[in-house]
Amino acid sequence: MQDFGLATKCLRAGYTPKNGEPIALPIVQSTTYKYESSDAMGALFDLEADGYFYTRLANPTNDAVAAKIAALEGGVAGVLTSSGQAANLFAVLNLCSAGDHVVASTAIYGGTFNLFNVTLRRFGIDFTFVSPDCDDETLEAAFCENTKAVFGETLSNPSLNVFDIERFAAAAHRHGVPLIVDNTFPTPVNCRPFLFGADIVTHSTTKYMDGHATQVGGVIVDSGNFDWTQNDKFPGLTTPDDSYHGVTYTERFGKAAFITKCVAQLMRDLGSIPSPHNAFLLNLGLETLPLRVKKHCENAQAVAKYLQNNKNVSWVSFPGLPGDPEYAKAQKYMPHGTSGVISFGVKGGRAAATKFMDALRLCNIVTHVADARTCVLHPASTTHRQLTDAQLEECGVKPDLIRLSVGLEDVEDILADLEQALAVATA
Ligand code: PLP
Repeated sequence: MQDFGLATKCLRAGYTPKNGEPIALPIVQSTTYKYESSDAMGALFDLEADGYFYTRLANPTNDAVAAKIAALEGGVAGVLTSSGQAANLFAVLNLCSAGDHVVASTAIYGGTFNLFNVTLRRFGIDFTFVSPDCDDETLEAAFCENTKAVFGETLSNPSLNVFDIERFAAAAHRHGVPLIVDNTFPTPVNCRPFLFGADIVTHSTTKYMDGHATQVGGVIVDSGNFDWTQNDKFPGLTTPDDSYHGVTYTERFGKAAFITKCVAQLMRDLGSIPSPHNAFLLNLGLETLPLRVKKHCENAQAVAKYLQNNKNVSWVSFPGLPGDPEYAKAQKYMPHGTSGVISFGVKGGRAAATKFMDALRLCNIVTHVADARTCVLHPASTTHRQLTDAQLEECGVKPDLIRLSVGLEDVEDILADLEQALAVATA
């Protein structure tokens, strides 16, 4: 597609109806596709012809939405996954086998931390976690002979650390490995990680991209910029795949090697695809993404300012607030806004935080962020409850932290609800 602006791509990329075809992206709710001859279908299995044969590998609705998100990120190809968890899992598994190692930021979503620190370790993949603000010596020391990737979150959930993409990309590239970043919170509306040197982007599309709390999904996008053949670290991409007719992905697919391998191997074997209906719902969300993200950020800026001046609030973390430790990095990487998510502490600690939550009338207590409706959560007692206090500290999650995902309601209504709940909590 011609290089249109982001809002145009949100509406138009991935699907261009021809004469007389539906204007809305059709839901191809079919597991399988019919062919006139065995040879015609055989050519698809040999990856010699383009076409669909089984939805676990590819589906027209899913592909259109993946292509749209790839266009938004400025990548060469993308694949949808059944969840954000699956996107991060597959991004790592596409590069790592048992015996390999990844350098990861400590400031990442609790579910990703657990996936890496517990589940993938059980499968023999090792991780070294470094603070996103670590010194250069610590970062260098984290790399090993068997390191295959570096992983971080552009804006971390829930600690709202702004990842120094350029710094971590440079370190990864010095060691001949790619930088994978999870760009869920800013979305490509607020941050385009490929412009700063990231190689692979993942998302939980469950969040702002959907924005209406209707589907769980994920996506992986490849920039196409990383040269997999520069060293012998990635034999899965640069040597024949015995499980797929001996294809060598880098030779056959060039810049699309990473995503093609992810589909042909991981989707084939592990099968974490979204339903086409979910991809359709995600696409509806994407159509209005720039409008919604702008409004989320405006509302959040007003709420953050209000909280900062409220006597019942002990601290506020919002990278859009001048004076916030992340402000300078936010201005560099996401100058038009970070996200609608704010963290803050209620005076009186854990007990007061719980009273505050229970007193809310409009804001919903849910295990979710980035919804059109304002959502609130106390991570230490919910999403992050599997982590020890020390691990919580490592992830930057204080025990009294309230995560507030500011929605699209009239901001006066959100402020009024916070005001009355804070008064109850600290009475
Ligand atoms: N990455 C980030 C930054 C998240 O916030 C989440 C979920 O909250 C995930 C990944 C996991 O996504 P999902 O819930 O879609 O599996």
